[in-house]
Amino acid sequence: MKTISFLSSALGVALSFGSAVLAQDYATHGTFTEPNTGISFYTSIEANGAISGDGDMSTVSVGGFTFGIALPGNAATVDSYEYIGLIVGSLTNGAGWSGIVQGDNTGAGMPNHLMLLAWPTGVGNTIATSFRYSVSYQAPVDYKGSAKVTPIFSKVNATSFTFVYRCQNCLLFDDPSQPSFNTSTSQGTFEQGWAQSTVSPADKTNPDSPVQQHNNGMGEFQITVSKAANAAYAKWAGISSTVPTSSASAAPYPTGNSTANSTASVVAPSSTLAAAPSSSVSATPTTFKGVPVPSATSYDYVVVGGGAGGIPIADKLSAAGHSVLLIEKGVASSARWGGTIRPESGWLDGYNLTWFDIPGECNRIWNGGSQGVACTDTDQMAGCILGGGTAVNAGLWWKPNPPDWDYNFPAGWKSTDLAAATGRVFSRIPGTDHPSRDGLLYVQSGWNIVSQGLASANWTAVTANNVPAEKDRTYAHTEYMYSNGERGGPMATYLVTANGRNNFHLWLNTSVERINRIGGHATSVDVIATNDGGHVGTVQLTETTGRVIVAAGAFGTPKLLFRSGIGPSDMLEQVQQSTDGPTFIKSTDWIDLPVGYNLADHLNTDCVISHPNISYYDWPAAWDTPITADKISYLTNRTGPLTQAAPDIGPMMWEVIKGPDGIDRQFQWTSRVEGSNGVPSGNSMTLSLYLGRGAVSRGRTTIGKSLNMVVQTLPYGDPNDLTTVGWAIDNMVNALKTIPNITINLPPPGVSGADYLKTIPLTYANVGARRANHWMGTAKLGTDDGRLEDGTAVVDTNTLIYGTDNIFVVDASIFPGMPSTNPSALIVTASEHASDLILAHPYPKKTTIVKKGGQCTNTGSSTGWFGWWGGVTGVGGSGNSLTCDEGLACKAVNYFSSVCQ
Ligand SMILES: Cc1cc2nc3c(=O)[nH]c(=O)nc-3n(C[C@H](O)[C@H](O)[C@H](O)COP(=O)(O)OP(=O)(O)OC[C@H]3O[C@@H](n4cnc5c(N)ncnc54)[C@H](O)[C@@H]3O)c2cc1C
Repeated sequence: MKTISFLSSALGVALSFGSAVLAQDYATHGTFTEPNTGISFYTSIEANGAISGDGDMSTVSVGGFTFGIALPGNAATVDSYEYIGLIVGSLTNGAGWSGIVQGDNTGAGMPNHLMLLAWPTGVGNTIATSFRYSVSYQAPVDYKGSAKVTPIFSKVNATSFTFVYRCQNCLLFDDPSQPSFNTSTSQGTFEQGWAQSTVSPADKTNPDSPVQQHNNGMGEFQITVSKAANAAYAKWAGISSTVPTSSASAAPYPTGNSTANSTASVVAPSSTLAAAPSSSVSATPTTFKGVPVPSATSYDYVVVGGGAGGIPIADKLSAAGHSVLLIEKGVASSARWGGTIRPESGWLDGYNLTWFDIPGECNRIWNGGSQGVACTDTDQMAGCILGGGTAVNAGLWWKPNPPDWDYNFPAGWKSTDLAAATGRVFSRIPGTDHPSRDGLLYVQSGWNIVSQGLASANWTAVTANNVPAEKDRTYAHTEYMYSNGERGGPMATYLVTANGRNNFHLWLNTSVERINRIGGHATSVDVIATNDGGHVGTVQLTETTGRVIVAAGAFGTPKLLFRSGIGPSDMLEQVQQSTDGPTFIKSTDWIDLPVGYNLADHLNTDCVISHPNISYYDWPAAWDTPITADKISYLTNRTGPLTQAAPDIGPMMWEVIKGPDGIDRQFQWTSRVEGSNGVPSGNSMTLSLYLGRGAVSRGRTTIGKSLNMVVQTLPYGDPNDLTTVGWAIDNMVNALKTIPNITINLPPPGVSGADYLKTIPLTYANVGARRANHWMGTAKLGTDDGRLEDGTAVVDTNTLIYGTDNIFVVDASIFPGMPSTNPSALIVTASEHASDLILAHPYPKKTTIVKKGGQCTNTGSSTGWFGWWGGVTGVGGSGNSLTCDEGLACKAVNYFSSVCQ
């Protein structure tokens, strides 16, 4: 297809809507017999010129693109993992590369799908090929799976190249560092993506050469297996490689300009993930010029990660007089902090604004703006930039609903315990549901339609942050953390006050790679530069009293803990086998905790409605060419549509429904004026349903030998969760169907919520449609010490990691379960609360390093009664003064005594 509605999917996720996308197949399909080989292909032809429907960052394909496929004769009944392919790729002035994304039955999104890149080497008619993959919408890396390409025929001229090849093990994904899956040809259809560039790789003869991001068309199409399967396959697969001389047939190939041999047909829309643009591609990691860590300097607190959790606590700890170093791996985002990322058209040049500052540009993260902004070391979306999620998100900002604390958290973290922290957060960041400085609301056509139905179904209109507990059959205008028409939030408040103190230091472009510790006591952290100007070296903590606060997000935190020897042994073994291995902490010092488990997220399900009175505002166009009047009103007065998050969010709706298991489940609906799932934008709206508090499903995130994080087990799919989601959909359909002239597109007419859910895959390949990017829970807070049998918690109620005396976690990772709403305000509130607890927490006594055989203080890393004893009286309690030397473990001799062995 051409652009699957990547824009809409992207926008959706950016707004935390989950990005359900149905790809549309805009390709022209047919059959074509390649004259030099005699192989008959089922072809998918993407037109020369402007791309309709697809394209995103590559809106024109000069010369078009053709992909042909032949499958074994029995592929419709027996899964085949190989095919014979035909690529007719365009060249511009003789240059370029073309690529195929080997999709699966539900999609061909860029993350975790095998890519085959091909380009002319410039030597005769030879073609270089390279298998790559990416865990996110970022630079692909070399693929280490079993795929194999065997050239059969190739030909190059000034405007195109033709490549016929056999691709074995290409319809399965088995890179050893990633979750594997295969495409099932016996399901009848599967998805393929494509992209191409007008620029040749830097070193054309080197298959590992870096390549530039595609700029000459992209999209996705569907393969109909029955049309590609051919009984002659075995014979064709045996054809030996033919690289022709000039005498090769000059027969016309099917291209965007030609329909030779094709029987045109357009296939129906199919469900898929977007084939998204990659960032500039490099096969080799880049190194940066780092600034050495200042010698003879130490810090009372090192805070790792400048996001929703890290910024507030860095401010609070520095306000208490401690020396605080906040280390953020990303670049500056907001212009206030030196950010520079602005529209290429230049309309923001000269203003103290970047796209991160302007609410109406928040979708840029999904719309071509992820490079250098989104994390590249996880398969899910997260901001790796100053502000973390609070720099790239849509700014939805909700005063916590009391049961979110009372249901999920243990004593000490109930809503009454959090009241003071909530007050402090909302006095600094009150939020607003009228972000334009003239007090008006703009682009309200969606609100006007949906609120009609809700009112007539007796749902209650509320001002959400005035009545945070009213979350059952209520609806509201969207509350944002914005202030003065700009993003605001922690970067505009907490970080500003922190930065005014001499004892506060902020390092950008610097990644913490490891926490060095002796036993349960952290002594320093190792850092590397992630961009020029970042720091390199080892940062010392103040002796005995120094502390680390890990606030690197739901994936960044477990990653850092794994690399510091804290986590389940299967994960630490992965790190041991990675490039960290030679310097990794010895296994005797590993702390066995369930880091990475308890992964939670709002399960998303998209419904779509249409109404003649709904009108779409072209938010993507507002990136480079905003409507002149809107641009002027924003730049001069901070008024108008650009003060609101794209794309027209609201109304927000909430309902509580008791599931079949008796558990109350909290739902949030987020409406936006935008089509999705195959329904075009124009008069349509997407209503995204989030399952929040009460959800039972939990997943797991894991680390691979490449040190990338993946979601290994999706946190969705508990049957009672799904049944209740189905009921929530039915309730909404019933509320809205009374609206005159409304069309409810999805669920389709007459289809119940339960049956609709059955049509939306809950698979890894479709995670883009089901996630909300509100990942939480991977270093769970609780009283059941995770080192003990059946224990589930990683941090105690002071946010201190069990088995350590000075390593704390303060971010989304500590949440035991999902809240009612988008979570950032709760994470900031948790950070405020944790600052009180951490500041009040006693320091360990001076740490004395004990040699072999010496008496030590047990940290409770053993199991059974001894672990219990350690958990109660060890370093998490009154202090640990006797720590075993590196490589030794503190082992119990009897109930009261232990020695280093
Ligand atoms: C696209 C998107 C839209 C969203 N929309 C909303 C919304 O509208 N409203 C809402 O409430 N929530 C929203 N969320 C969720 C919310 O932003 C996150 O839940 C929240 O920011 C998580 O806070 P955190 O502190 O756990 O992590 P983050 O805010 O992600 O911060 C973690 C930081 O740590 C840094 N880091 C990671 N590893 C290291 C390391 N080793 N060394 C140094 N630094 C490191 C990262 O670069 C990052 O800046 C959205 C999230 C996304 C991704």
